Amino acid sequence: MKAAMWRGPFKLSVEDVPVPKPREGEVLIKTMVVGVCGSDLEVYEGKFKHAQPPLILGHEGGGIVEELGTGVTGISRGSRVMVECVLHCGRCEFCREGRYGLCESGKTIGLIGADGEYAEYFAAPAENCYILPEQIGWEEAAMTDTLAGPRHGLKGVEVNPGGTAAVFGAGPAGLFFCALLKERGASLVYIVDIQEHRLGLGPQFGADLTIHAQREDAVQIIRDGTSGRGVDVVVEAAGSQRALGEGMQVLRKGGYLLLYGVFGGPVKVDLQPIQFCEYTVVGSCGLDYPAALEFMGRRSVPIERMVTHRFDLGGLVHAFESGMIREQRDGYIKGVVLL
Ligand SMILES: [Zn+2]
Ligand SMILES: [Zn+2]
Repeated sequence: MKAAMWRGPFKLSVEDVPVPKPREGEVLIKTMVVGVCGSDLEVYEGKFKHAQPPLILGHEGGGIVEELGTGVTGISRGSRVMVECVLHCGRCEFCREGRYGLCESGKTIGLIGADGEYAEYFAAPAENCYILPEQIGWEEAAMTDTLAGPRHGLKGVEVNPGGTAAVFGAGPAGLFFCALLKERGASLVYIVDIQEHRLGLGPQFGADLTIHAQREDAVQIIRDGTSGRGVDVVVEAAGSQRALGEGMQVLRKGGYLLLYGVFGGPVKVDLQPIQFCEYTVVGSCGLDYPAALEFMGRRSVPIERMVTHRFDLGGLVHAFESGMIREQRDGYIKGVVLL
């Protein structure tokens, strides 16, 4: 079968490899779609330290169950499934607390210690497979992972009806945060970014006001818009020191700060407000697939508009090599690989 194989920094190519055999508890899936993720780019460039070549990349995919390994129950051949990439052991203390994202197994499909989904077939544990509702098409389904993260993250945040929020970063996750905050009853949601085409999608995902952080003063606008009080919830979904700093300046006393963006390294931040304003800081790296699929099935936001680029395996390699994805050229928001 064809697969996009990573053999070290900047070395990605389509290779012919054997179709994997599903082991006990696993299923073999005929790949239909895989979302292209920022962490693929990190791996490609050698910046994601936990990834070791050779590795088939791709971890936001799904497809049709083709073959069952021994001991698999509750799923049948021909099922349409989306696959959660974190391989949890089910035995460590975090798994037993139901916090699978913190599992000690340390393996993730397409990222750490397990081959991924940019391939005609891939194997995954049956327990990582979630049935895709009939009304959700494959392209849209590729957004499940991107939605499952914000859906999980907001569990730790209190949002009251009529509440206010500011989301820093208008990437796909930031846009989903807007939609989910509105669903939770927020009456005023700001979205802040420096890219016009991303901000442009904000209103379609529920943002009430978009702020261009380079041309406008986000802190001033949000303070003025909340009568100096600040917002109840700040979501940092940009992974930027500046966004974090501005976010903390517009958070009301007693508010929630959700850290979702990935910072490349240590950042400088004034901790004093966390103490004196009694902020609750929430970290989040887990996923909630069932809730994400349920949200998608309701079709309350135009998820398909986030998908700006479609690739086959060769096209994906080219998109990495040419820097198109890194530089987010041609209005790039989210790419999907269709097989
Ligand atoms: Zn991802
Ligand atoms: Zn575990």
